[in-house]
Amino acid sequence: MSWKDIDPKDATEIDCTKRPDLDPPRNEWGEVCPWPWDPQQFKDAPMGQYHCPYCGAMALAGVSHPDYGDGPPADDDSFTQSWDDDSFMGPVL
Ligand SMILES: [Zn+2]
Repeated sequence: MSWKDIDPKDATEIDCTKRPDLDPPRNEWGEVCPWPWDPQQFKDAPMGQYHCPYCGAMALAGVSHPDYGDGPPADDDSFTQSWDDDSFMGPVL
């Protein structure tokens, strides 16, 4: 079962942040979209880019919500790793 198998009109009570089993898409920042059914409802609207009102992801009107996965690797991780490196010996007393 995927969120894509559910019709938007049947999904009004669903919060995808509480339903990881539906494999909900993520935005550019790796956050799960609470309600990814918005973009596909604009079938009759002119094709265009807009931001998902629920998670802020860049989406295309009339097309299923994009999934950006876990997002780009955070710079904070590499900074943290540098302190775990063996070359860091700590302050010399
Ligand atoms: Zn979204």
